[in-house]
Amino acid sequence: MIPFRPVAWITHPACNLHDMGEGHPECPERLRAIGDRLRSGGLLDFMQQYEAPRATIEQLTRVHAAEYVQRILGAEAASLPIHVDPDTIQTAETAEAALRAAGAAVQAVDLVLSDQYGLAFCAVRPPGHHATRDQAMGFCFFNNIAVAAAHALARGLKRVAILDFDLHYGNGTADIFQNDRRVKLYSTYQHPLYPYWSGCADTENLVDVALPPLAGSTEFRKAVEERWIPALVDQRPQIILVSAGFDAHAEDPMGDLRFGYDDYSWIAARIQSLAETYCPGRIVATLEGGYTPHALARSVERFLQPFLTGDMPL
Ligand SMILES: [Zn+2]
Repeated sequence: MIPFRPVAWITHPACNLHDMGEGHPECPERLRAIGDRLRSGGLLDFMQQYEAPRATIEQLTRVHAAEYVQRILGAEAASLPIHVDPDTIQTAETAEAALRAAGAAVQAVDLVLSDQYGLAFCAVRPPGHHATRDQAMGFCFFNNIAVAAAHALARGLKRVAILDFDLHYGNGTADIFQNDRRVKLYSTYQHPLYPYWSGCADTENLVDVALPPLAGSTEFRKAVEERWIPALVDQRPQIILVSAGFDAHAEDPMGDLRFGYDDYSWIAARIQSLAETYCPGRIVATLEGGYTPHALARSVERFLQPFLTGDMPL
């Protein structure tokens, strides 16, 4: 029997002011759809809500080059918008949103380490897992989950797990931690697909399982059971961080994976059970991808379900 642990929900209005333009898939509507669905379904009432603080320079420079952080935060208004890559645009509102998104991740770690909460979910934009030590890319500016992991290490933890089930490979997180054995990154992702990660066979702290186009529930669950779980049992993480991207869902336009809603409640229950065994209940999840707003909202709801409502059907 898994004990009930309160859930924290962290977001900030600034995350919705970052807008990369008409028709861009990484849009404010994503967070609005999630909020609307959780409000109308009543789940928001079961979570303690927090407004994210800004990440500090010290927290950001644990994972990003100081010059890079300065480039994002110090961009002259007259020079904006800046096209970092064809799809990643820094506007006047981006720096504040990115500071709050990374700050949410830090706050989430502090909340679960205080043992007040089991799960802390960061409903934030921009996402983070493509941002490398010194490069914004793939809609990402600061690597929120990496900032969370580095904060957990700074708080004295020695074994941190990052689970990433986004459609895309978290190349930024891999870039930041590939030589840091205290952090293990567990990934499933479509390959070939952006960012065209080809694996890193020599690095034992990257457990990555590439899935072919059209892979769905069966392949995903097999990858988790056969590849992630044995490595997690071996690692015995003291906290579990989740790059919670929902763009592997069948209705998402970005790729060709075919995850269903049930897969998100399944992986959540699996993570919950692991966390109970190894770190009592401490989980931090931060939003990554998911670009069909109604499917994203329902996927997030299903991910939260095991933590809030047990077996209540949704
Ligand atoms: Zn993605």
